[in-house]
Amino acid sequence: MDETRRLAEALAGATRIVAFTGAGISTESGIPDFRGPQGIWTKVDPADFTIQNYLANPEHRKRVWRMRIENFLKAYEPNPAHHAIAELERMGLLDCVVTQNIDGLHQKAGNTRVLELHGHTREAKCMRCDRRWPTEEISARVEAGDEDPHCEHCEGIIKVCTVSFGEAMPQDVLAESFARAEACDLCLVVGSSLVVFPAADVPLAAARGGARLAIVNAEPTPMDRLADPVVAAQAGRVLPAAVAAVREVLGEHRP
Ligand code: NAD
Repeated sequence: MDETRRLAEALAGATRIVAFTGAGISTESGIPDFRGPQGIWTKVDPADFTIQNYLANPEHRKRVWRMRIENFLKAYEPNPAHHAIAELERMGLLDCVVTQNIDGLHQKAGNTRVLELHGHTREAKCMRCDRRWPTEEISARVEAGDEDPHCEHCEGIIKVCTVSFGEAMPQDVLAESFARAEACDLCLVVGSSLVVFPAADVPLAAARGGARLAIVNAEPTPMDRLADPVVAAQAGRVLPAAVAAVREVLGEHRP
């Protein structure tokens, strides 16, 4: 049986799926990932992207705002892989999406339960007084020449509401992600190298809780040996085909 069919059968046999997604699900929407062959880390050094460097170094902040505007703040659209996961929610099979992504494309595709482990780009916040603004307001200031924007109330440094290296993850989101992973019967990993921790502990928690693990990723991951099936392919091609097959399988079994 081919791997897409095996994936369809795994999805159809589940009643409570947690989708765990990473940057690879959004490459087909035009957003580069970090560690894939065209990834951002092949061009810049991840060691620079710490919260400490952001707070200490104005030149670094200017560079980060420029990268944000180029890579994340354009009007990206969900691709067929995001739509397939939204369809699993409409079919009543999906408990939630736990994502490492900051791009908001699962919500744009129609998913209503999305746990964002690494924050999001919808808002920017003052690192001193915690005031928040829609990110477009701040990026408009940057594009108008204020390259290192500061809070007009307290002069604090402004940063997009994403989690940088060295910054704490949102503990409530992390706790809910683990609880839902432990209670699911299938954890569907899509487009993640599964090397960023503690995020990658989420599929491990699902497996420990007795769930089946299925992986759709273009390259091998360190958790492939725990998963069945492992589909090494483009998510935007495989997931819509698998979800269409789920519809058929479930249709056959409905009275
Ligand atoms: P990663 O870059 O480490 O891994 C992405 C994986 O996806 C790679 O193994 C790659 O081979 C695979 N991949 C790429 N395109 C694919 C496709 N079309 N179909 C299937 N697989 C594909 O990403 P990660 O595991 O999410 O972890 C890195 C960090 O990246 C996360 O912390 C996340 O916050 C951040 N990030 C997010 C975005 C985004 O929001 N879109 C983009 C870049 C990085």
